[in-house]
Amino acid sequence: MFSIGLTGGIGSGKTTVADMFAALGVPVIDTDLIAHQITAPGGVAMPLIESTFGPQYVAPDGSLDRAKMRTRVFSDNAAKAQLESITHPLIRAESERQRHEAQGAYHIVVVPLLIEAGERASKVERILVVDCPVETQIERVMQRNGFTRDQVLAIIARQATREARLAAADDVVLNDCAATLDTLQREVNALHMRYVTMASQGSKPRT
Ligand code: ADP
Repeated sequence: MFSIGLTGGIGSGKTTVADMFAALGVPVIDTDLIAHQITAPGGVAMPLIESTFGPQYVAPDGSLDRAKMRTRVFSDNAAKAQLESITHPLIRAESERQRHEAQGAYHIVVVPLLIEAGERASKVERILVVDCPVETQIERVMQRNGFTRDQVLAIIARQATREARLAAADDVVLNDCAATLDTLQREVNALHMRYVTMASQGSKPRT
């Protein structure tokens, strides 16, 4: 099992890069998607969330009331830790299950907060960082989500710094404002070749 942990700040281009690997046939495990699934209607995290936080955090369809929970944990660190103690083990277990099922030479695990959670927690062989300047992040997220500049800055402030991410990276894809989808695709193709080679040579896990 050769795992590449893909990470980057909000708006760096993680999803764009992950989709390019997926189009090459590489299994992509998306921890954000898993987090959504376990808190969707009937999701495995919902009974414990309801008994811990109360029914007011459950939307009428049985899913997590994300807006309400976001407001709660934004100002309450203990609640944030409590929510994470419910969701993180479930996300990890589902991610592990998908990793064991993944076919092919290697797979990608998209972990937006990989650096924040501690690199070792994700048990990946290599860390691939999608990097871009903060100004590019701001522009992309304002456009994609319709957020204000201050809203994007508040999210960025709670994430690892660009420097911290780069310090942890084994590989970096630069996706700044000069990068086109074509140049990005070429970088992804080159990395794909390297990862296939590394996986076949049985590269050692990070220590
Ligand atoms: P993340 O998953 O890291 O938050 P996305 O992959 O969703 O970031 O990218 C953020 C936004 O910027 C998306 O709307 C995406 O289409 C756009 N984008 C990312 N990289 C590029 C690029 N190289 N050229 C043009 N648009 C891009």
